[in-house]
Amino acid sequence: MAVTLDWLGVSTYRLTVDEHVIFLDAYMDRVPSAPTVGLKSSDIDRANHILIGHSHFDHLWGAERIAHNTGATIIGSHETVRLMDLEEVPHETLVAVSGGERIQLSESITVRVFPSQHSCIWSTTGAPGEACIGDLGVTMQERESNLAERAASRSSSQHPGMDEVNSHRELCTQRPRAEGGAFAYLIETRYGSILWKDTSGHWTGIMRDLRPDVALLAAAGRGNIDGEPIQGSLAQFVAREVDLLRPKSIVLGHHDNWNPPVTVPTDLGPIRQELARQSPRVNMVDMGYLESYPILDR
Ligand SMILES: [Zn+2]
Repeated sequence: MAVTLDWLGVSTYRLTVDEHVIFLDAYMDRVPSAPTVGLKSSDIDRANHILIGHSHFDHLWGAERIAHNTGATIIGSHETVRLMDLEEVPHETLVAVSGGERIQLSESITVRVFPSQHSCIWSTTGAPGEACIGDLGVTMQERESNLAERAASRSSSQHPGMDEVNSHRELCTQRPRAEGGAFAYLIETRYGSILWKDTSGHWTGIMRDLRPDVALLAAAGRGNIDGEPIQGSLAQFVAREVDLLRPKSIVLGHHDNWNPPVTVPTDLGPIRQELARQSPRVNMVDMGYLESYPILDR
């Protein structure tokens, strides 16, 4: 098997191309109430590169441990690099990008970095098939105050599982962090290309020309299209992304129950239905944790 993919929960994957191991995000040490992915960051003893989509803890936390154990090079935003520098990851293994770079990972693997968008975590959000309308033209200040309100209600919640969630969050964010900008990465190998994004947002004009063989897409929250929340459902957002990219296969991520009780398992039914309607020829790969799926074999 030349190219295999292991899903490690949320948007974290291990991509193995021949002998080259690339982590896509690094978050696998989750709150104890979440289903385990079968691997801890401290178990990882082989990695060449770690690509980080954005710097929130459910994507970045763990990268420092993998880097220390393996000597892997981390590629991410200036915010990611700042945080990894504070964790004493050696400078020569940190590469800050802002989108527009093409980086050689090995003799036969390159990665192109593109600016992307984070999902609208500040806006109203519904179930995957539920259309959400409005929240247009909201200023950065209003977005920030919405987020602060949500954080306050989370920390005061009386739900029995919330103490565990809050202490996990405190552990993961001992170094305060910003999102740092979100990226899409296009990994080009001799076997084909893989586009990976770790949050539901994009710039339309960038997505539509990439045409990867495989797309690993996030299915969570309210989709962000060119800086504004989608006027529609998450299912419609994913279908629109697939229509822009036109991949042969897709893998969905970020839909697992990674942070209960704040998260619930996402019902992929409405997304499947929307994709079957709009892009019936796309192969949707159903992936469990740690399956070493031969992603470019078909
Ligand atoms: Zn995020």
